[in-house]
Amino acid sequence: MTRLDVTAAAKVRLAAILAKPHGHRVGVLGLGVAGKAMALLLAKRGALVVGVDRRAELVSAELTQAGIELRLGPTGPMTFADVELVVLSPGADPAQEAVAHAVAKGVPVCGELELVQPLPARVAAITGTNGKSTTTALLGALVKGMGQAAFVGGNLGDPIAGWLLQDKPADVAVVELSSFQLETAYSFRADVSVMLNITPDHFDRYPDVASYAATKERLLENMDAKGIAILNADDQSVVAMARSVRGSIYWFSTLQESLPGDGAYLDGDTLVPVGSLATLGRLDLRHPRLFGRHNRENALAAMLALAGLGLWGPHNGDLVRASYVGFCGLEHRLELVGEVNGVRFINDSKATNDDAAAVALAAMDRPVVLLAGGRDKGAGYERLVAAARTKVHAVVAFGEAQALIAKAFATHPGLVLCQGMREAFLRALTLAKPGDVVLLAPACSSYDEFTDYKHRGREFKRWVQALSGGNA
Ligand code: ADP
Repeated sequence: MTRLDVTAAAKVRLAAILAKPHGHRVGVLGLGVAGKAMALLLAKRGALVVGVDRRAELVSAELTQAGIELRLGPTGPMTFADVELVVLSPGADPAQEAVAHAVAKGVPVCGELELVQPLPARVAAITGTNGKSTTTALLGALVKGMGQAAFVGGNLGDPIAGWLLQDKPADVAVVELSSFQLETAYSFRADVSVMLNITPDHFDRYPDVASYAATKERLLENMDAKGIAILNADDQSVVAMARSVRGSIYWFSTLQESLPGDGAYLDGDTLVPVGSLATLGRLDLRHPRLFGRHNRENALAAMLALAGLGLWGPHNGDLVRASYVGFCGLEHRLELVGEVNGVRFINDSKATNDDAAAVALAAMDRPVVLLAGGRDKGAGYERLVAAARTKVHAVVAFGEAQALIAKAFATHPGLVLCQGMREAFLRALTLAKPGDVVLLAPACSSYDEFTDYKHRGREFKRWVQALSGGNA
């Protein structure tokens, strides 16, 4: 069980401390970018902050100058013995001993979302298994395109606490939320909440899909009657979450025209609004860089969120369309790196799970040499295998997960195994023919070989660029 069992009494104390942190001793666990910002924010609000991190070598003059006491190195049951509240950074596992001990003693535990709320702006929050960052960045661009000042961040880019530290006013906060962040949110409330999809992921942290989905659902449980939930009508786990919504629902679908209520569906490449939104008029969703049905889903969700914020109306469809077309897309998400000798290279390093990689394959309109591998995440490769059936003529599996991927693709005629990604890339070059795509859609995390998915994607791009003397 990964959900924290913080008692009702502890939550009352938590709210009281966060309302007036001055003079209270608060522990912050994990001093990465978000943890650091949270510690500084608490110190700024007058709390006596104890910063804890396993990394003994971590030094931060910024934290010590702010009067924050640092406890670095191994943690244990006594780490938080003298604090009244523990704040977890998004990367810190709530199941660890130091936290469990605090919880058992009745010490309240929360994460960034509790600490930052209520936010000084209208809030659009985006969660789901895949597409969060794309949708967040797209909605941020659309909100800015409508002339509003926006903070765009959260799990993507800058932490929310970092924005609050800067005292930079915004009309709208567009925040991407991970399930890890939602685990430690009890009252965080958004005006518009987007639930993109739920597919198996993070089995390294959750026992099953149900508890993973329940964590995501927290976002909807906290909304009030004025809130608007943007829900995917094509995803049964998301449809079931309608039970938690007290406000309005806008549905989106790329597969069906009959929506259960207000919302929008896709007709070819056109958004068709229905119900109370019908007056918005149809909107062309063709885009120079966002391709694939999944990106149409992300666009539908972002457009409905824009409408939910009251920023897309019948009068400004042209401006909305212009802002949409001007959106550049994100690095490492179906990013076209270049074309060398008739072979296209696409970097989808962010496809770190089965579903995301399958979705990337579905968006391909040429024969594919697939690069898949890295560190297995325990959710299987079923969807990838199914999506690969017709388009993929070679699967180059690499990294720690290669044996598991080989097992999944046992009947595929073009399976090749390699140790590392570099070897896999060189092998892919020998297999690709003019007219093909070499697609990096690993379906795995990158940690066996790289710092993170960005490092993996950058290496891939560097290798492609080297092929054509930097002119790919
Ligand atoms: P997240 O922030 O949720 O990880 P991203 O926008 O970074 O999502 O996209 C991650 C990967 O997920 C992409 O590389 C793409 O392959 C896939 N993806 C993007 N949008 C969707 C979607 N709506 N449904 C399924 N997969 C998607």
